[in-house]
Amino acid sequence: MASAHPNFTVIVNWNKKGFGCAKACSYCNWRGWPALPKGPQSKEQVAAFILNCKKGTISISGGADPLYRFEENLPHLLSMVRVIKEQGFKVRVITREIEHIAKLRGIVDRFSISLDSDVLAALDGYREEWRGLDIEYSIVLPPFPTSQLITLMPQYAALQRQLGRRLVLRENFNSLHKVDFSQLSSGHQGIVFVPKALCLSGRYLADQQEYSGQDILLDHQQLFAYLMHDPRIHLFGGAVKHMLSPSIHSEFTDIDLLATSTDVMTQLQEHFGYRFKEVAETASSSPRYFLGKSSRAGKPIHLVLVKSIEEARRFILAAQYDIDRVGYCDGQFFFDERISEAAIRHAIQTKQATFVGGTRDMTLFSSNRPQVEARHQGKLARRGFVIHDYRKLDYASNHLHPSGSHENRRGDSVVRLL
Ligand code: SF4
Repeated sequence: MASAHPNFTVIVNWNKKGFGCAKACSYCNWRGWPALPKGPQSKEQVAAFILNCKKGTISISGGADPLYRFEENLPHLLSMVRVIKEQGFKVRVITREIEHIAKLRGIVDRFSISLDSDVLAALDGYREEWRGLDIEYSIVLPPFPTSQLITLMPQYAALQRQLGRRLVLRENFNSLHKVDFSQLSSGHQGIVFVPKALCLSGRYLADQQEYSGQDILLDHQQLFAYLMHDPRIHLFGGAVKHMLSPSIHSEFTDIDLLATSTDVMTQLQEHFGYRFKEVAETASSSPRYFLGKSSRAGKPIHLVLVKSIEEARRFILAAQYDIDRVGYCDGQFFFDERISEAAIRHAIQTKQATFVGGTRDMTLFSSNRPQVEARHQGKLARRGFVIHDYRKLDYASNHLHPSGSHENRRGDSVVRLL
């Protein structure tokens, strides 16, 4: 559905320092994106950028939110709108700051409201003051396979009827799955699909520079097609939980992987724009730890460089909780057999993290591993995991049967888990 002429979008981040958005969506890839504007872009840059647009409308979008700290940033927005209109274009603003929309009546031509639960709950309070405004709603599809998205379509159709306006469903750049829109589109009047190809072919003005969508948007489906099939890579952590259970673990903030060759970093740099910085204590220590950030808006990569596949697996199988004793390499999951695949799958599916007692091989971990594990525990709790950790006197209900069910009898020894 790629258009003959690309869409033109001015990306804004009004903040000179930091990220100008009041929300903190876990799936947001813009926060920390290196080319995010730092303050308003100049009128000359905007004017030069839109010169080649063959469509009738220019979008003003995040990056951060264009209506963030509205009163303070309104002069910048008005200046940008003026430049765009002087060249005969209409202006569309994409926002979640809905309380300010009506103030832009007669100034902005179209609004696209990105829906989340907070925004949805507040909509009714604005219906009157939005009368006569050109407004549509948009939602990024959850990162599910097409088969699961199909089951959501009746709910989207009901939502669209309730909203009474056009509902735009956008393909999710964070998804590992290619969406077959032909299976989603039948019979839902008022719903429009935006495949990521449309965004990838668009033109964007960001930090004083024009970009194509390909340059700035990281397609995680392509990234994972590589990560999941290079035998030198072992994925672990949140990405693997998402792969096992996309609807329960629909979001993960970063990508954890073990690599057995530095060539993996080279590949990630060449094909996906990642730059890696070593974060280990000393360059001579082993394994070596790297943080990778892409020049495109995408998830950071925590990369642990190990010497062999055996080390990679030993690293994963020494995790403190059962839910983390699973990895993925070259098309296959592998599980800690001492716990069993069924038990680990069940624990991930039901969000129950159980400390695995006994002696752990800590030789591959960095010296700050206790802090890393404490942070991880906090992250799990924030994500709704129930944590069974006998170190915190929850021993009696800790232990998993091979079937994966929890057992309250102390008699079911910890030996089962080792
Ligand atoms: S509202 Fe948009 S820009 Fe703000 S954190 Fe969420 S996804 Fe990012």
